[in-house]
Amino acid sequence: NEDVSVSEVALNPRRGGPKNLPIAEHLIDDDDSPSKKNQKHKPKLVILGTGWGAVSLLKNIDPDEYHVTVVSPSNHFLFTPMLPSATVGTLDLRSLVEPIRPIVARVDGHFLKAMAQDIEFSEKLVECTAVGPNGENQSFYLPYDKLVVAVGSVSNPHGVKGLDNCHFLKDTNDARLIRNTVIRNLETASLPTTTDEERKRLLSFVICGGGPTGVEFAAELYDMLNEDVVKFFPKILRCEISVHLVQSRGHILNTYDETLSRYAEARFAHDSVDVQTNARVKEVKPDRILFSQKDEQGKDIVKEIPMGFCLWSTGVAQTEFSRRLADKIEVQKNKHALETDTHLRLIGAPLGDVYAIGDCSTVQNNVSDHIVTFLRTLAWEKGKNPEDMQITFSDWRSVAKKVRQRFPQAADHLRRLDRLFQQYDKDKSGTLDFGELRELLIQIDSKLTSLPATAQRAHQQGTYLAKKLNRMAQVAPGMQLNQVDYGDLDESVYKAFEYHNLGSLAYVGNAAVFDIGGMNFAGGLMAVYLWRSIYFAQSVSFRTRFMLAMDWTKRGLFGRDLMNF
Ligand code: FAD
Repeated sequence: NEDVSVSEVALNPRRGGPKNLPIAEHLIDDDDSPSKKNQKHKPKLVILGTGWGAVSLLKNIDPDEYHVTVVSPSNHFLFTPMLPSATVGTLDLRSLVEPIRPIVARVDGHFLKAMAQDIEFSEKLVECTAVGPNGENQSFYLPYDKLVVAVGSVSNPHGVKGLDNCHFLKDTNDARLIRNTVIRNLETASLPTTTDEERKRLLSFVICGGGPTGVEFAAELYDMLNEDVVKFFPKILRCEISVHLVQSRGHILNTYDETLSRYAEARFAHDSVDVQTNARVKEVKPDRILFSQKDEQGKDIVKEIPMGFCLWSTGVAQTEFSRRLADKIEVQKNKHALETDTHLRLIGAPLGDVYAIGDCSTVQNNVSDHIVTFLRTLAWEKGKNPEDMQITFSDWRSVAKKVRQRFPQAADHLRRLDRLFQQYDKDKSGTLDFGELRELLIQIDSKLTSLPATAQRAHQQGTYLAKKLNRMAQVAPGMQLNQVDYGDLDESVYKAFEYHNLGSLAYVGNAAVFDIGGMNFAGGLMAVYLWRSIYFAQSVSFRTRFMLAMDWTKRGLFGRDLMNF
């Protein structure tokens, strides 16, 4: 499985595509070794990304059926659920990553350390750039028969000013930067030249976002400050340290069951972690954060917290590459993610040979279309023209019941629609007309279709897609989809994707909460061991499991590693 550098691609005589770039065909054409004799005749499967979605696809794809090439700027897979533990030295970053090359080698594939920039759908080429031998950016085209976009997401800035004063927590580099800043602040706070006021500011840690990542980071930070800093930094008093969590909603962990989010809040209150709810961040300045909150009269007032460290963790947004694709395809309307059909095909991409999985995508399940169809039928049953009908709340409920029977997974969204129906009824007549209802459906459409941006979902989609692609290759061997019309192969050989929520868990500081299969529980040490065991079992290989066990033992014996490199 040779390493192919971009300069070799540049030597390839064939150039083409709209930008007349070198075309990386040699990956397949030069592969004449006996073991790879058949590579040329297999469809070219190109996978963009080396995260949860891409790796579960790679682990399940049949190497006899596809010639696989993986493109990503990261040559490793990162086990994100435990990343917060690596920001404070509880775990070593190396214990959370798995090199990608052995995983790609299993499928006799190629890995290119490069970034996808664009797709030329009509010519089936992915435009990629990579850093060349002299540090300059080099571009080339990679041809595909089937393309899987699994490029993940970036942190959502929500249009807030001053985010360059914040840290983010998405990858190993972010975790390294956080760790260095936290330790640097502790060291500076210990200097005799630092004033009391400066010390308090340096030791004030703010986390914006009360979702699982923000909560777990706050918990890990709190543990470290309490268990190690107080012991090894004698100049720092515990009362000078503060951890603040700023959440825009009414509760932290608001996607979990209410009892669990209340448990987490009570835990933080007990640990003196300051939780500010219903708080909207306005701006992050280098030394403080400004946010608005309503006072008792419901009036917005602006508050501020001086800080020496700020983590921004308030949900996800599209990468630049995904945005470029969405802008290119007219029917892609969703601003947050690439829309796919239920077979995970990118909507609007010609030839149906491009798929999108994981955080970069959202599945359109046509619930809105069904609502409109059911309402039309209802209007006809009542002998009315649908466009002129006034829809009462009871009309709406009878339609919602039918939709719920057809799409049990949409139950939560339909309940939300119930509430919105009443709020939207502006003139309080108890009815909406057809146009108003459509407007409402468009407004909530992204909510109706969105699946959670979780490793769980990306993993399920990767596995699903691998199984389907394997089946398609068996049914239509050696398919060259641009030459042979196979009709809707996806639908004829495999079922649509269905997401199964297996539950959520979160670490909340010497305690953990679980929301699994409708059962909710939370607790102290035993729950923490259970939390660790679940992730330990899910971690990718024996190598990472061994390293995780070593890290936990090391921490138990010697404390956390409080050095910055
Ligand atoms: P990712 O895993 O993000 O992978 C994207 C890949 O694409 C990366 O390899 C990236 O380098 C590559 N890439 C990016 N741009 C390009 C490009 N232009 N060309 C080629 N490659 C590109 N989920 C859970 O279910 N449970 C948890 O406990 C949990 N905890 C989390 C904790 C943290 C700190 C974070 C950050 C996330 C957590 N998540 C958790 C969410 C989970 O990590 C994501 O939902 C998951 O990683 C999404 O998988 P993905 O394959 O879509 O993207």
